[in-house]
Amino acid sequence: MDIVKPARVRFAPSPTGHLHLGGARTALYDYLLAKKTGGQFVLRIEDTDQKRLVPGSEAEIMHGLRWLGIPYDEGPDIGGRYGPYRQSERRDIYAEYTRRLIDSGHAYYCFCTPDRLERVRQDQQKQKISPHYDGTCRRLDVDEARRRVINGERHVVRFKTPKEGTTTCYDLLRGKIHVENQNIDDYILVKSDGLPVYHLAATVDDHEMEITHVIRGSEWLPTFPLHTLITRALGWEELQYVHLSVFLKPSGKGKMSKREAADLMKDGYSIFIKDMELLGYLPEAVVNWIALMGWSYDDHTEFFTMPDLVDKFSLDRLNPSPAAINFTKFDYFNAVHIRNLDIDELARRLLPYFESAGVAVSFDKLRQIVPIIRERITTLDEAPEMTAYLFKDTVDPDPEALIPKGMTSRQASEIIQHSLGIFEEMDRINLETAEPIIRELGEKLGFTASQTFWVLRVAITGQKVSPPLFESMEILGKESSILRLRKALQKLDEV
Ligand code: GLU
Repeated sequence: MDIVKPARVRFAPSPTGHLHLGGARTALYDYLLAKKTGGQFVLRIEDTDQKRLVPGSEAEIMHGLRWLGIPYDEGPDIGGRYGPYRQSERRDIYAEYTRRLIDSGHAYYCFCTPDRLERVRQDQQKQKISPHYDGTCRRLDVDEARRRVINGERHVVRFKTPKEGTTTCYDLLRGKIHVENQNIDDYILVKSDGLPVYHLAATVDDHEMEITHVIRGSEWLPTFPLHTLITRALGWEELQYVHLSVFLKPSGKGKMSKREAADLMKDGYSIFIKDMELLGYLPEAVVNWIALMGWSYDDHTEFFTMPDLVDKFSLDRLNPSPAAINFTKFDYFNAVHIRNLDIDELARRLLPYFESAGVAVSFDKLRQIVPIIRERITTLDEAPEMTAYLFKDTVDPDPEALIPKGMTSRQASEIIQHSLGIFEEMDRINLETAEPIIRELGEKLGFTASQTFWVLRVAITGQKVSPPLFESMEILGKESSILRLRKALQKLDEV
């Protein structure tokens, strides 16, 4: 399975909905194979099923790929040598190949009405045989059929599947697949509106665009023999195919329904790429996570950046078994990738989350904040709330919360009073200057460090759990820190 020649690989979504994890994973593997081999990654929009088109979907796919860091080398909006890259703009090409298939006896016109086909289907159902076209128009004389077409009779074009023998296709992941030809239907290739169906359009385009590898979902396995038969009928070389495993819902039981997918948002998750940014996920984490949902490098390496993946990706490490979507793992990867960003980069990424939370913060202030939160956040959107105390004039701690378990309000006041004395004398409060002195103070007063810091933490941040105390005081500055301590003292007096 070693690939030495540059691969031309395409991602060929139908613009019928949101770009989701499954599509993004296919695009990622396409991209990795192309980059790894020095080839090209092509985006082709498969929009021949006009009824299913969803406005905005194509733009969402393009934006999603760019956001993920999976840019394409050729595509509808950037062009390329093999364009157009939208199937609706390639009708003439399909018409030409349809003609060739008919001329060579590999396809035929079919005039059966939907009513007739429905009756055939019902009869087959009664006889308990699987539904298929009964071949009525297969037997028509070609010239006669052409005349009917010229006369404007409504028709489709069907593939003339051989009735005997076996078709053998080869999937890089699954090996040889044998199918008895009698089990392959005479599929429609061109619909009555004159547009080709996916099977014809994709097969033609893969050849015309000189694609070398087709990576796609396993839902296309049942029609894989048809694609192989079309390719052979046109006398073309066969490509390398990989049908990827499916994604299962987190429980591992079945595929996720539309409803279940929509419900995920309330728990802060999504399977749609468009939601990831809003939910505070990094594209690096999405990429790392989906890369491992169907591929592995070895049995232990988990952290991968895009350059690592380009370096290490290979088709022979793909796994054909279905993968359950694991959001806990996703959170883990996000946290790891957050920590992997340098301070400036993380500050830059966090800025929009503060803006949308309505918190005015300068880039410099964010640079100060980043070191105290980056080990504590799992998603970027958590940062504004976690650091809200740094942006308020004062905080309003619950007086009871200021008193650690087993201590009295007087003891808590004592800690604050003595600390105030120390802080007032200091020029600058930070971890190095304040921590040892306050620790020592606590000991002298007969308290543990955790009791001492508890009182000060709640006074300064208003929270029992918060980013580190002295670093927070440094960001707040001496004046604001002292005001907060005085206010806490007053509150304790009122208990
Ligand atoms: N248009 C098909 C889809 O949306 C593409 C399948 C393929 O890659 O061949 O799934």
